[in-house]
Parts: sequence; C-alpha cells; structure tokens
Amino acid sequence: MTLALGCIADDYTGASDLANTLTRCGLRTVQTIGIPADDLELPEVDAVVVSLKSRSIEPGLAVERSRAAEKWIRGRGASHVLFKICSTFDSTDRGNIGPVMDALRADADEAIVLVTPAFPETGRTVYQGNLFVGSVPLSESPLKDHPLNPMHDSNLVRVLARQSAKTVGLLDLATVARGPDAVRAHLADLITHGFGAAIADAVFARDLETIGAVALEHRVSVGASGLGLGLARALVASGRVKAVATTELSAMAVGGAAACLAGSCSQATLRQIAHAEQTMPVLRLDPERLLAGEGVGPALAWAMDRLGKGPILIASSSTPDQVAAVQARHGRDAAGHAIEQAMADLAEALVQAGVRRLVVAGGETSGAVVDRLGIPGFLVGAEIAAGVPVLRAVGAPAPMLLALKSGNFGGVDFFADALALMR
Ligand code: ADP
Repeated sequence: MTLALGCIADDYTGASDLANTLTRCGLRTVQTIGIPADDLELPEVDAVVVSLKSRSIEPGLAVERSRAAEKWIRGRGASHVLFKICSTFDSTDRGNIGPVMDALRADADEAIVLVTPAFPETGRTVYQGNLFVGSVPLSESPLKDHPLNPMHDSNLVRVLARQSAKTVGLLDLATVARGPDAVRAHLADLITHGFGAAIADAVFARDLETIGAVALEHRVSVGASGLGLGLARALVASGRVKAVATTELSAMAVGGAAACLAGSCSQATLRQIAHAEQTMPVLRLDPERLLAGEGVGPALAWAMDRLGKGPILIASSSTPDQVAAVQARHGRDAAGHAIEQAMADLAEALVQAGVRRLVVAGGETSGAVVDRLGIPGFLVGAEIAAGVPVLRAVGAPAPMLLALKSGNFGGVDFFADALALMR
C-alpha cells in the first residue's frame, strides 16, 4: 500500500479534526495514537494522520518526534507530508512550528515550504500574511490571552520568521487567485531569493484548493485542517485518489455487544443521558463510592446481567453542583483522574466480556479509555454528529467500533444515533 498523503499533527484533537476533514473529502484515513510501531498493519487507506502531543513541548523534542513520525510515514510511501498545526498558529518565538518545519524541509531536501493555517469554513482566513479569527485579527482574538502561547502578533510572516532559521516570504491572495501557475512562478521567485517558507493567503476554500494542488508538487507543507482539505481535494481532482463515501468505511459490521460510557458532565451530555434512559438501561455511578475505592465490580455485575439483551449506558456524569461538591471534598484533579481510571477499568472489563461497539462521552474520559484499551489507531468513518465520526480500531486485538465525543458535541439522541451507525 502506498499512502497518497501523510500527516503529522501536533495534538490529538487537531489530528482527529484533520482525519475527519480528509475523510469527508473522500480519503480513506487512519489516525494513529502516537508514532505507530513499524509492524502496525494498516488497512487499504489513502492518508494517515499521526497524532503527537508536541505543540507545547521543548522544541528539540518536538523536532525529534516529528522526524520519527515523518520517517514512519515516508516508509509507507507518502510523497507529501503535511505538518498539521492549530488554525490559530499556536506557538511561541521558540517554536514549535518553525523548528519542526525547518527539520522536515531539510529531511525532504526541499527549498521552500508552503504554510497556511487558513480554514475559511471555521472562520480562519489569512490576508497579506495576517491571520483573522472570525472578523478580528489574531492578536485581538481570545488567543491573545492563551495560557501557553499567547498570540500578540497577527502577521504570520513575522511570527514564523522569528521561529525559523530561513527567511519567510508571502504568497499573496492576488497571486493565489490567479491559479496554480501563478503560484508556481511566485514560489520559484521566492526560492531564487533564498526564502525557505511562504505564508500563503487564503480567504475562500478555492484558495486552499489552488494552494493544495501546488503544495502536492512539494514534499512538505504546514497548515491546519483547511490545508488538509485543499490537499485532499487536489488529490481527488487529479485522480490520484478515488473518493470513497464515508458510509462504506463504517458499514462493515463487527457485531458483538454494545455499551456506552459517559464521564462528561457537560449540559449536552447530561441531556443525552436523560434521553438514553428511554431506550436503554442506564446505570448512574456514585462518584463518592468510586472515590472511596469501591471499584467497578458492582457496575460490571449490573452490566453483565444486561449486555446480552442490548446496549447499556454507564455514567459518572453529575450536575454542576454535585460535581463541585465532589471536587471540594477530594480535589478537582484527584477526583477527575480517579473517575477517568474507573471508566477505563470498566471499558477494559466490558471489552473482555465481549463488547465490540463502545461509545464514550467526554474528551479526557475518551483519552483514558483509548490508552487503557491500547488501540494504536482508528480508521475514520461516517459522522454521527458534526465532528464525531465512527471509528474502527486498527491494530487492536479484536475488531471494534468506537465513538469518542467531547462533552458538548451531538444532539439529544446522540447515544442512539451513534449505535445506529455502529453495527
Ligand atoms: P468533557 O469533554 O465534557 O470536558 P471530560 O471527560 O474531558 O469531559 O472531562 C470530564 C471530567 O470530569 C473527567 O475528568 C471526569 O473523570 C470527571 N468527572 C466525571 N464525573 C464526575 C463527577 N460526578 N464528579 C466529578 N468529576 C467527574
């Protein structure tokens, strides 16, 4: 199998977003959790997104991990690698966008890298090198107060120049609007003048398609899910990838028992649990008893009695005042961690008991469950709700379908909607 596109994402949620975007464009896409083992068996896919957690770590370490991911991707035949960053260009003067870009460019023996965090459908546009978040420049957006990487400069040519060893130029909107040939000529000119990167303006999706088409002729690009969309559309338009409907990917049934676990205490999840009570047995865990060390034995016994008859839901979720009371008694982090681990214990035991379709509500809760199940990657399928696809485990001991949702995602019938697509 030869990958048409390899991606390295600097955080997990960004990786999921990109994988979902590529899938919506018709690319069969696997998202891996960390750098996969050399012997990971991939299904037939067009794209792989390797999820790292390298956005805010030491620049040297981010470079090392990104290069290792690139090596794995190139080993699967990908001629183009997208380094996926945040669409708000989250970084500091030390990196990690510039240092990783410099290293990937050197490894690929490229002269110049196209860079754009633009993603117009989510309100991220770039004009004259300045990033806009909705209608305001980046430096006036809430990102100016970000706890890890406050963004005080909207001009990405300057921002990236402070992080990169080479000079950074601009690929302006007027040139992008004239199409791929104009872009190629402009890049050739920048290369002649010694530029090592170009911030590309993009205001409409068609700008990303032009940039994507030219970027594919190079070995590395840097951008957010918007550039992923541009690259994917260019791959499909050129005939290098045959677009596949997402439903085909999740249609293959796995069978087995189905269970839902909810650790999110968001308003949306609380409403979804209340609704699920009309269609499946729901067990509400007592956080105090979990924190007192009771373990998940009683919940598991409850589940065993019911698993053979249809889907079940087990929730730790409580209302804000109950959560506040638990946190006041045990500390926020300790309570959160203990409950996440209880959910992971439950997931592990349920899978051992034959559950093959698992829906998890809560971002941190999902992370704890996926870590515990030791699943190295997912093939991304159809969307249950915006941003929440069905996932088919890749490289796991048993075939499994999962849905992992952050708290606020999905409509009131989310659990039933998810199970309807997971057969
Ligand atoms: P979301 O996506 O809604 O933020 P997360 O799973 O990321 O959901 O976070 C929810 C956090 O709340 C987790 O750390 C979870 O363990 C914790 N939690 C779950 N139930 C309770 C509860 N009843 N009381 C206190 N904390 C809880």
